[in-house]
Amino acid sequence: MKPSPDEQLVFLSKLQRLFAEGDFTATYKFALLIALADLAIEIGDDSGRPLQLGHRVIASKFIEMYWQQSVPYSTGRTGTAQDVLVQNSGTQAAIITAIVRFRQQNPAATVQSAKLLPSYLALILTVGQTVSAQPINYLQNLGGITDQFLYERTRGAIVLKPGVAFCLRRFQPLVQQLARSHWVGHIKRNRLNSPILGQADDLESFMFATSRHALTIIGAGLKKLTNSHCFYCRSTVQDADVDHFVPFSMYPRDLMHNFVLAHPSCNRSKSDTLAALPHLERWLAFITLHDDSLNEIGEAAGRLSDGESCRSVAGWGYANAMSSGGQAWLKSNAYQPVNQNYLDCLE
Ligand SMILES: [Zn+2]
Repeated sequence: MKPSPDEQLVFLSKLQRLFAEGDFTATYKFALLIALADLAIEIGDDSGRPLQLGHRVIASKFIEMYWQQSVPYSTGRTGTAQDVLVQNSGTQAAIITAIVRFRQQNPAATVQSAKLLPSYLALILTVGQTVSAQPINYLQNLGGITDQFLYERTRGAIVLKPGVAFCLRRFQPLVQQLARSHWVGHIKRNRLNSPILGQADDLESFMFATSRHALTIIGAGLKKLTNSHCFYCRSTVQDADVDHFVPFSMYPRDLMHNFVLAHPSCNRSKSDTLAALPHLERWLAFITLHDDSLNEIGEAAGRLSDGESCRSVAGWGYANAMSSGGQAWLKSNAYQPVNQNYLDCLE
């Protein structure tokens, strides 16, 4: 059932056509592609089987993404206005409007705390309706013709076709990169945003990155939890970095269990590589032992906290590394090939 190399190439070229020829009046289609790739990693597998995704699950991903972008953006420069970025070429996108209204009416500082409120259900339903009526309906329209190469629709859900979850998992970094850069481009080209933007150049970090404030909270929480020890070399650390255990370049999404404390030098040395087996084993033990504390820190920092998803992400990252002959970082200038032992301990 796994798609052949040729079928994977066809998938990629269709994806490229989608970005080149698709009609993007709102930014929803970028969000939908990112959501599908994330869900393929978090709940899909490499069997090549179809994967059913409910509108509500997808809506929840949309809220996570647009939550961060529903606050006013300011370049901090004179001559630019501070306002919420417009995500549609006509008027503001309905999903942004719904989230802004929800945030005005509910005392939720973070999307994590919002999920605990009874009124969140109404927001999910509203967003789910829009997602169903718009991006799900139009994503597969290429040059006026519908090509259902990604999914088919059923009641309240979509079903990813055989091989699609497999391809989304394999090419997730590419899907993310394409969707994010086109998304940022869409915001910049929208003339409704020119009074806000001027010549702004930090748009991508505003739209997608973890805030400095959240990182400070996470760093302080991890220091307390580990008694200020570097996760990798295990000696004490004062001015610690917060490192993504599965590199951000591989999986640009902030899950609380993926954060570890590290010396800036250890962090730099590891860079964009996966960590070697002894680190992986220690990390698995760490997130199991400290699950509750990590959830608490994540809640305080407004980051998503889901140990199970995070473990799936690691399983996906190491499996991809093994199939492409990747190396894992042990310590400064020391690497090991990723082999079956890595996957066994992630079972
Ligand atoms: Zn260190």
